[in-house]
Amino acid sequence: MSTTEEMRARALVLADNFRAISGRVNTVAQAASQQVRLVAVSKYKPASDILALYNETGHRHFGENYVQELMEKAPELPKEIHWHFIGQLQSNKCRQLAKRIPNLWAVESLDSIKKATELEKGRASLLESSPEAEKLRVYVQVNTSGEEQKSGCQPEEARDICQHIINNCPTLVLQGMMTIGSIARSKDAENENEDFINLKRVRDSVSAEFGIELELSMGMTNDFEQAIQLGSTNVRVGTAIFGGRPPKEQVAVGAS
Ligand SMILES: *Cc1c(COP(=O)(O)O)cnc(C)c1O
Repeated sequence: MSTTEEMRARALVLADNFRAISGRVNTVAQAASQQVRLVAVSKYKPASDILALYNETGHRHFGENYVQELMEKAPELPKEIHWHFIGQLQSNKCRQLAKRIPNLWAVESLDSIKKATELEKGRASLLESSPEAEKLRVYVQVNTSGEEQKSGCQPEEARDICQHIINNCPTLVLQGMMTIGSIARSKDAENENEDFINLKRVRDSVSAEFGIELELSMGMTNDFEQAIQLGSTNVRVGTAIFGGRPPKEQVAVGAS
């Protein structure tokens, strides 16, 4: 159990980190004449961290990677929070995710028609019982690096998934496209990140075909400034705000 003083100190560190990152985001965004949303990625971090940052700064957009973790945290935290689900998405979790978290603002990791259909069922069901709930924004996640272990659809599949959302998913709003990108490219500050360029190319093509505006969600702690320069409108930053995350094994033990 943390003492009140420890919690106060932690709140100030988080607020400082957040303001520093937010300042850097705004500087690059202004230079690029672009509106950019900062999503604070809070996976593995306690609800108390999220609440502290929310109270200190008024920040609303938080990102989570695991359905179970989000389902535990969301009910404990203010309903004014705009949650972004950014983790690997399983078909059998889509429905509950869209239905049970009314303030889930967006799912950024949608990568198949089947998962879109499941999210649609969940959100339709929520809207039936709570007509005041919002539609669910979705980003189609594209595997731009060709690395096999990365989730995301192939670039050439993105168009059909988008078409399905537009035509068959009335309770979803197609908000944009998302990529994670390769770690190697995120550390290479010299060259323009090919993942970001690829995502923008796919986005531009779908945008033109369907006549809609679409956002780009790209950029994390190591590469958010370059991502904004290459057109990102939504950056997802975890480590630079909340500090490092424990290795997965340790978390599994701690959670049991
Ligand atoms: C964890 C995660 C982030 C945040 O990464 P950091 O390097 O800690 O900023 C962003 N996007 C996705 C999809 C993630 O899984």
